[in-house]
Amino acid sequence: SQIVEGDELRKKLHNTILELKGNIRVFCRVRPLLRFDGDSNGPEGASISFPTSVESTGRAIDLMNQGQKLSFSYDKVFDHSASQEDVFVEISQLVQSALDGYKVCIFAYGQTGSGKTYTMMGRPGIDQKGIIPRSLEQIFKTSQSLESQGWEYSMQASMLEIYNETIRDLLAPGRPNSFEMTPSKQYTIKHDSHGNTTVSDLTIIDVFSIADVTTLLEKASQSRSVGKTQMNEHSSRSHFVFTLKISGANESTGQHVQGVLNLIDLAGSERLAKSGSTGDRLKETQSINKSLSALSDVIFAIAKGEDHVPFRNSKLTYLLQPCLGGDSKTLMFVNISPEASSVGETVCSLRFASRVNACEIGIPRRQT
Ligand code: ADP
Repeated sequence: SQIVEGDELRKKLHNTILELKGNIRVFCRVRPLLRFDGDSNGPEGASISFPTSVESTGRAIDLMNQGQKLSFSYDKVFDHSASQEDVFVEISQLVQSALDGYKVCIFAYGQTGSGKTYTMMGRPGIDQKGIIPRSLEQIFKTSQSLESQGWEYSMQASMLEIYNETIRDLLAPGRPNSFEMTPSKQYTIKHDSHGNTTVSDLTIIDVFSIADVTTLLEKASQSRSVGKTQMNEHSSRSHFVFTLKISGANESTGQHVQGVLNLIDLAGSERLAKSGSTGDRLKETQSINKSLSALSDVIFAIAKGEDHVPFRNSKLTYLLQPCLGGDSKTLMFVNISPEASSVGETVCSLRFASRVNACEIGIPRRQT
């Protein structure tokens, strides 16, 4: 079958995406070239460009790979100059919908060093704050302003990490726990018929203010860095899942809502060869590959409207099952690095996301 190129492809894809893709969106973010990147080909790197035709601006990215130009389109593309605020503006409505009772998942996908943690968590400094702190600020602010209309909200937070298909509680009381699974803590995942998820033994904390959550995020990040010294570069090898459960009730109207906001910093997507894996590293990489491809399969099946969605193929997809299907809302950030030396990984990341974004809708996948 015929392969459609460039802008024509984009237009076609975009229209079809709007019709069929429902509640799954994909945003791509290119981080700036950093001083320590080792190549200095200008701020956006050697091989990446952003087409500027009417239908492509802010939605398309072109990449040169081995002399061949590859074109990709997403719901949104942020170039190296996009600030944390620019990004948040585009997702604040999605975050808001968790207060209206939706189940929302926001993922960051990409190779290690591509800006996932920067996008989700950010760095210290008001301008540098990422999606997690900004979302929480917005949720607390809005829930307070809705009090005047009779709404009362309660919120509960939990934070966990999935490493080698094993759950670790980042808010466990006392000293941060280690990776050894103790028989008393199995972290069994259960879903009830109302779409509520419980993870046995997982610490869940009532939060009343942004300050409460900030304290918890600090504890979680300490817990994660304990892991990091135990396991080389551990944090990039595990999935981090922040969950905020939101219950709202309005006495005057009798309305009740139950929303969930899941913010997920995925493990680095780099492939086996690059990480030079043997032994434990090999096991880690295989387990990451397995869970990332399970996630891709799930999102792909949902976007296609398939009857069977293979949620059970990984801990991550099983945990998030009620928040990925049905009328929930999912956003995937594909973070990419502009480094010329990363181009191979970048192509893989862009392809992973365009499988979600376009390949399922009957338009031939480009043989790139
Ligand atoms: P990952 O979580 O994917 O491993 P990081 O978020 O740690 O990657 O990003 C790698 C480095 O690049 C960090 O030093 C981070 O602060 C920096 N960085 C990432 N994205 C941006 C950005 N948009 N603007 C400025 N610095 C960034």
